[in-house]
Amino acid sequence: MIQANDSRLKSWVAVPKDSDFPIQNLPFGIFTTRYLTAVAGVAIGDFIIDLVYLHEHEFLDGLELPRGIFNQKHLNDFFALGRKKVGAVRERISELLRHDNGKLRDNNPAREIALISMTETQMMMPVGIPNYTDFYSSEEHATNVGSMFRDPKNALLPNWKHLPVGYHGRASSIVVSGTALHRPKGQIKLPDSESPVFSPTRKLDFELEMAFVSCSNTPLGNSIPLKEAEDHIIGFVLFNDWSARDIQNWEYVPLGPFLGKNFGSSISPWVVTLDALEPFRSDGPEQIPQVLPYLEFEGKRNFDIRLEVLIATDKTEPTIVSKTNFKYMYWNPAQQLAHHTVNGCNIQVGDVYASGTISGPTPDSFGSLLELTWNGQKTLTLGGGLERRFLEDGDTVIMRGHAEKDGVRVGFGECSGKILPAK
Ligand code: MN
Repeated sequence: MIQANDSRLKSWVAVPKDSDFPIQNLPFGIFTTRYLTAVAGVAIGDFIIDLVYLHEHEFLDGLELPRGIFNQKHLNDFFALGRKKVGAVRERISELLRHDNGKLRDNNPAREIALISMTETQMMMPVGIPNYTDFYSSEEHATNVGSMFRDPKNALLPNWKHLPVGYHGRASSIVVSGTALHRPKGQIKLPDSESPVFSPTRKLDFELEMAFVSCSNTPLGNSIPLKEAEDHIIGFVLFNDWSARDIQNWEYVPLGPFLGKNFGSSISPWVVTLDALEPFRSDGPEQIPQVLPYLEFEGKRNFDIRLEVLIATDKTEPTIVSKTNFKYMYWNPAQQLAHHTVNGCNIQVGDVYASGTISGPTPDSFGSLLELTWNGQKTLTLGGGLERRFLEDGDTVIMRGHAEKDGVRVGFGECSGKILPAK
């Protein structure tokens, strides 16, 4: 058992009851303030602990951290120290924040500088992302999409239950929560016309996903065995894989998603460590047929994380449009990484591996508008009687997620983004 996960721990920092950031979480992120540029921090309640300050003032002594490791634009170099070292830093922060530890609590000048109210901060991209991969690992999502676009009787293609299907996405257009995106334009093939038109997308959608972040560089030619896969995963973020369904539908054959996806993806700013998620491990769905040996696994490799999507407009407050759970995923992160590298593909620190749209078994648990409105055949009612088939300009999509057990709630904060008119 990881000490920092003990459900009995309490902090001297007051943490609101419904906070995503109790002492048992301690996620890592990069923030700025009026006075600080790009500093690594840890979230606790409504505050951020400044890791540069702690490091420079001997609070992290004995951990043998490189100079300046927290004074960087991204967390990549810190994460590259590996899960053990990052875990040791989390453990030390946990000790410093425990209600019975006076070291920082009773040091007024240090506490006032090191503990910064979130209202005074802005969150930045947590990592520089060399590569981004998007999987397609929810059986419910793949079945819904296959039923809509192909054949309800053969919704899953023959490969789907033998390997975690995925594609290489665009890393350069991944933005941090709070960044607005312009409605993308592209080629659209309307049903009543033979040739495509050029137009802003008329079917703009979100995809509710989670993503894991890697903390290793592996040599080209090497494979990561499934048993070791989680050693290379530092933690998770929420991920919105924005999608233009009409552009996607026209372009995707035969090579897969391209401009329908690469105009932008959003991530939540706090990397919740795999260590912090240990208590929330869960069994996944039973895998039949039997997978090939390199994809076989033991133990609980899924995670029980409750997820929701809300849509807010310029006129209305956020309305919940979907509630689901990460535990429904058919393929788990360890299988995804083992499969990704089985051919010798190398991975890099800061790579982002998104799960694929997370849909649950019931219609209110679907992770995209494509499924929620069945490709626009139905409408979704928002507050104030507004209706949506797909997203409109001015809409903001908000994703939230948290795990909860034994009275402890470990959450991700928010992944939000607003849609601006086409440029
Ligand atoms: Mn996706």
